[in-house]
Amino acid sequence: MTRFSFSLTATDGRARTGTISTPRGEIRTPAFMPVGTAATVKAMMPESVAATGADILLGNTYHLMLRPGAERVARLGGLHKFMNWQKPILTDSGGFQVMSLAGLRKLTEEGVRFSSHVDGSKHLLTPERSMEIQKLLGSDIVMAFDECPALPATDEEVAKSMRLSMRWAQRSRDAFGDRPGHALFGIQQGGVTRELREESAEKLKEIGFEGYAVGGLAVGEGQEAMFGVLDYAPGMLPQDKPRYLMGVGKPDDIVGAVERGIDMMDCVLPSRSGRTGQAWTRRGQVNIKNARHQDDPRPLDENCTCPACRNYSRAYLHHVYRAGEMISGMLLTWHNLHYYQELMAGLRAAIAEGELARFVAEFHAMRDAGDIEPL
Ligand SMILES: [Zn+2]
Repeated sequence: MTRFSFSLTATDGRARTGTISTPRGEIRTPAFMPVGTAATVKAMMPESVAATGADILLGNTYHLMLRPGAERVARLGGLHKFMNWQKPILTDSGGFQVMSLAGLRKLTEEGVRFSSHVDGSKHLLTPERSMEIQKLLGSDIVMAFDECPALPATDEEVAKSMRLSMRWAQRSRDAFGDRPGHALFGIQQGGVTRELREESAEKLKEIGFEGYAVGGLAVGEGQEAMFGVLDYAPGMLPQDKPRYLMGVGKPDDIVGAVERGIDMMDCVLPSRSGRTGQAWTRRGQVNIKNARHQDDPRPLDENCTCPACRNYSRAYLHHVYRAGEMISGMLLTWHNLHYYQELMAGLRAAIAEGELARFVAEFHAMRDAGDIEPL
């Protein structure tokens, strides 16, 4: 049986490329994980998500525990079978979304008591329960249960929260147990303070995990502050384990994170934008709602091989968006996920060839040039 493992094949500066092996398949890194919040990547069939080049999906513990319920998913054969996705799945711990979505929260040493945003029902999420839920779902990569303080916060508040998360990381490790082929990732906290990031990294390494996430970023601190932390935080984590930046991001955030040694990322942006008429292309963001597209017979991106670009014009994409047709979200989501995966493939190839600096320069030059001129 394949065990969970990670091997680096090349580095270029701080950037790395490699492969995570799991019993459910390989994940080429740097990897972008589309978000399948409620056991679906919205507007996409799972086989279409795979066709964009995704090796792994992210599922949300908070949403799935509330609806349809982790025990129900387990009775129905686990999340892979339930949603018809046979490749690897990473689940978050629920901690972040409890803090951002649930009502009436009470945080204690034990965990978080909260009421569901769906039906008001009462729940208690602890490190032990989070591990149990992620096991019931059948997740391949399980995230330790942590707390992420809302920003802005004082150093003292960030330190207190980080130390609680480190105690929860130990409890997560203890509760995870011995599960060959599955991985548990620890999450570094500490806000934008170097000393706290160092303390967190040391504690996590002492506990020992199969991978490490840089947590507490992409929460509104801005790209400059995020890159500031990424200039040192990944280097505090073990070289031979995957490093995951949670909740990132826009294409230029992804490129900057990969340059700084990140191996995995996830974000709702490509799928969410696809449902609001926003496309991400090599030439930056395109707003398909804009009237400039209504008579334009050209594809969104003439070099893109996704179905939206191969078979449809900007005029059609504009029309179906304006008409509120479901195919609008389907086509733009497909295009956006395809673009993101193509970006990751380009980054992996550039790192392997030692050409990352040139790739990044071209990436920025194309975006700076902007969208094609209107007809
Ligand atoms: Zn396309």
